[in-house]
Amino acid sequence: MSDLLSRRVFLTSTAVGVAATRARDIAFPMRPARPLPPASRWASKPVAVASANGLRAVQKAFDMLMQGADTLDAAIEGVKIQELDPNDDSVGYGGLPNADGVVQLDASCMHGPTKRAGAVGALEGIKTPSEVAKLVLKYTNHIFLVGEGAKRFALQYGFKEEDLLTAHAREVWLHWRANLNPDDDYLDVPEAERMSTRPTGTINCDVVTPQGDISSVTTTSGLAFKIPGRVGDSPIIGAGQYTDNAIGAAGSTGRGESNIKVCGGFLTVEFMRRGMKPTDACLETLKRVVQLTEPRLLGPDGRPPFSLNFYAVNKRGEFGAASLYPGRFAAHDGAEAKLRDTAFLYERPAASR
Ligand code: ASP
Repeated sequence: MSDLLSRRVFLTSTAVGVAATRARDIAFPMRPARPLPPASRWASKPVAVASANGLRAVQKAFDMLMQGADTLDAAIEGVKIQELDPNDDSVGYGGLPNADGVVQLDASCMHGPTKRAGAVGALEGIKTPSEVAKLVLKYTNHIFLVGEGAKRFALQYGFKEEDLLTAHAREVWLHWRANLNPDDDYLDVPEAERMSTRPTGTINCDVVTPQGDISSVTTTSGLAFKIPGRVGDSPIIGAGQYTDNAIGAAGSTGRGESNIKVCGGFLTVEFMRRGMKPTDACLETLKRVVQLTEPRLLGPDGRPPFSLNFYAVNKRGEFGAASLYPGRFAAHDGAEAKLRDTAFLYERPAASR
């Protein structure tokens, strides 16, 4: 079936956003699933790595790799589980809204074999921004669509516009607003219920196929209660994620503004190009983040009190992750999907957290 024909068949026959169960069911595949060569001829150790909320994502992505799916198709189907989950309030549907109470989503991806990239920023009303980023990558001459244009683009491909603000996310937002300013006309919620930290969250997933093809995707609802229009690192190619099919892939979760300044996805891949293992490359990128942190953001102990994490895979299927403070990440290493400890720069300093 030609690519164009498969798109037409899809548009007339399938609902977008339904989680695919088999590689051959994916909407808008990068390529159809094809049989794997015998394991003795595999070029790489297949692996799927993700942020700690991505245990289901790495299981799904790995299962799809074993069905012969394309590397990016596997990664996107993995993170879509989180995007569609109303109980994850940091990604996709159910994500916490911006300061106006509107959910604005960001995502980006890169596909190693075709050297393509795609991204969407401040996308409203569409549950799975990672899929829209993949469509920008696959069907346009552009890389980054934002706001209204990104939404119109998604609608043209058959995505449904939906209200992404769940009752839970609305409640958290109302709570935040009522506590924002003691002089406003909202009655404050009890002090004990005050939200002292701003919740964040994102999912990054990086995948290596048995053929040695690599991809990465990062998707998020961004910083909760952000200034409307703000985009973080997740949709920025080279920050939220980056892939070079000859070297590896890397991605990030955590304080996006701090990652954007070091181009952390790109930098981590560059460290691997110079010979570092994935974990060491992630740690080296975090050291650069610390070097570039503004004094206003440093805690009393001189350390950045925010959270930032990097995840990486290389061409051989080695993987790792590092964070400023001890954390966890998800990986399927061929044997099982499980959470592991990240490497870290600092023990968590009680004084500044
Ligand atoms: N990196 C995301 C952003 O800055 C947020 C997060 O991962 O917590 O938009």
